[in-house]
Parts: sequence; structure tokens; C-alpha cells
Amino acid sequence: MTTPAEKSRILIVDDIPGNIKMLAEILRDEFHISMANNGKTAVKLAVSNQPDLILLDIIMPQMDGYEVCATLKADPATQEIPIVFVTGQNEDMDETKGLSLGAIDYVFKPPKPAILKARVRNHIETKRQKDILHSLSTIDGLTNIANRRQFDITLDQEWRRSVRGSLGMAIIMLDIDHFKKFNDHFGHRTGDDCLQKVAAALEESLMRSTDLIARYGGEEFAAILPQVDHTGAQRVAENMRANVESLKISHPMSDTSRYVTISLGCATIFPTRDGSAKTLLEAADKMLYKAKQSGRNQYEGTVI
Ligand code: GH3
Ligand code: MG
Ligand code: MG
Repeated sequence: MTTPAEKSRILIVDDIPGNIKMLAEILRDEFHISMANNGKTAVKLAVSNQPDLILLDIIMPQMDGYEVCATLKADPATQEIPIVFVTGQNEDMDETKGLSLGAIDYVFKPPKPAILKARVRNHIETKRQKDILHSLSTIDGLTNIANRRQFDITLDQEWRRSVRGSLGMAIIMLDIDHFKKFNDHFGHRTGDDCLQKVAAALEESLMRSTDLIARYGGEEFAAILPQVDHTGAQRVAENMRANVESLKISHPMSDTSRYVTISLGCATIFPTRDGSAKTLLEAADKMLYKAKQSGRNQYEGTVI
């Protein structure tokens, strides 16, 4: 996503340099332009540059525009990028094919500059609004980490992946200790600040980009750790505990520590054994309860 101060980025793909030049000249003052003169480079640049829109020629040697479009739409990393086909008036164009592959629009060469600009602007704005909606539906507004909905979706995906690959996975459920007393003492606003700091510390405790930390509800958080064994999961749990403690957020009303602390429950599963994502969650929750019972500011773990 771009801020209004930044220029939106367009990738222009065409095997004929003159065509790229023509399009770039129309769009250059308003957009940041990158270029590719073949399909393979286009796919590579789309992944690495994440442009806001792609103008894609259809007829190209080796990999044609349809193939580029299909490849980009099949990859989660690029499938949301709007693609506009740019085609010659007399080229044999199959509009239905292009649109069914997921392209958003067609323009003809040579395009009228004002119309091309307006169309590109519209598509980029629509994409921007889509991104905002997506982020609102998956990110927790207070803490800026994943929300419960995103957690549930990811858990389902990771569960199926771990069954397919016979890989271990773990869930950590965690909860701030004596948070009601913290709120009662400092007020709700300071409570919210505390939740934000704890969320950031939890996010920093993750070791891999595939790990997910979510706000599960209120002052409860949950992490999904794919491809991990019991030892690895416990290491993350201990990291989380230590990182929150070392924030040194004063909590004079806590019976556990001078500072804000968390309790954690960790459950690891290997899909060769019987089980489901639900049993994994329940096991982590049970371990969290045990950690609370055992004195808080600690983790308990189990393998199911
Ligand atoms: P325990 O150590 O057993 O976890 O005790 P606790 O006080 O943390 O647990 P309890 O469930 O009794 O209280 C949770 C508190 O979390 C109650 C509520 O005021 C607070 N809380 C939940 N969501 C929010 C929020 O979004 N903002 C703030 N400031 N407080 C919240
Ligand atoms: Mg061509
Ligand atoms: Mg609590």
C-alpha cells in the first residue's frame, strides 16, 4: 500500500521497447514506472517490486501475456496485483480468456493518454480500498497484530499443511497476569498502551516469518508456530515470557511481580497422532490454566 505522498508503482511489460516508451511517457509524471521486455522478467519483478498495477502486453515471444497473467494469479505473493492487458488493435485478442484469467481491464494500443491515466488511477484506487478492507478484516485495530479471524484462518491452513507434510506444529496461548488490577489501578487508556507494548514484544519474540501472533481476545494472545517441535515451541514461549517481563511495565497491584508479566500454555502436535486443530487449542488452553495455577509468569507445555 502507498501513502498519498508516494507515487503508485506501475510495471509495464512489452517485448517492443517503443511500446514501453509510449506508455511510460504517458504515465511517468504521475506514477513510478518499472519495465520488463519479456514474461519471465515481468514475473520476477512483480514478485520483488510488488507494483500497484501491471500493464501487460499479450503477444510476446516465449512467455505470452496470458501465461504471465496466469502465473501471477496463481501465486499468493502477486495474485492481488491488478493486471491490465494492453493489446494492438489488430492483434487477435481473446477478451474472455484474459478476463477469466483474472485481468481487470483491457486497453488498446495506442491508448488515449487521458483515458489510460484515468483508468489506471481508478484501478489503483480500487486496489487501495481493497487493501484497507483486507487489513481491517485481518488486523487488530489496537495492537496492529493479526486478529482472531486471521488466527482461525491461518490455524486451519497450517493444520492442513502439517498433516500433508507430517510436520510438527505448536500453538501458544497466553494471557496477561492480573490485568484487571492493572486496569483498575491505571485506567483503561494505560491498559490499552500496555496491550500494545505487550503485542509488540510478542511479535519480536517470534523466530520465523511463518510464525503468527494474534490478539485472541481482550488480554489474551495466541501464536501459531508451524514446523516446530516441543523444544522449539518452548523456546519461543520462554522468549515471549522474558521479553514481556523485560519491558518492565510497572504493575504495583500484581501479586506475581513488580512488572507486567504473562502466563503461557504451549501445545505441540505431530499429525501422525490423532488430533485436530481444536484439540491442539484446547490443550494449549489447559496448559495456560496450569501456568496460572502454578504461580503465573511462566509457561507450561505438552505434546499431544
Ligand atoms: P489473570 O492473572 O488470572 O489472567 O487475571 P486477570 O485480571 O488478568 O484476568 P481477568 O480475566 O479477570 O481480567 C481481564 C481484564 O482485561 C479485564 C478487562 O478489563 C481487561 N481487558 C480486556 N480487554 C481489554 C482492552 O481491550 N483494553 C483494556 N485496557 N483492558 C482490557
Ligand atoms: Mg508484443
Ligand atoms: Mg489475565
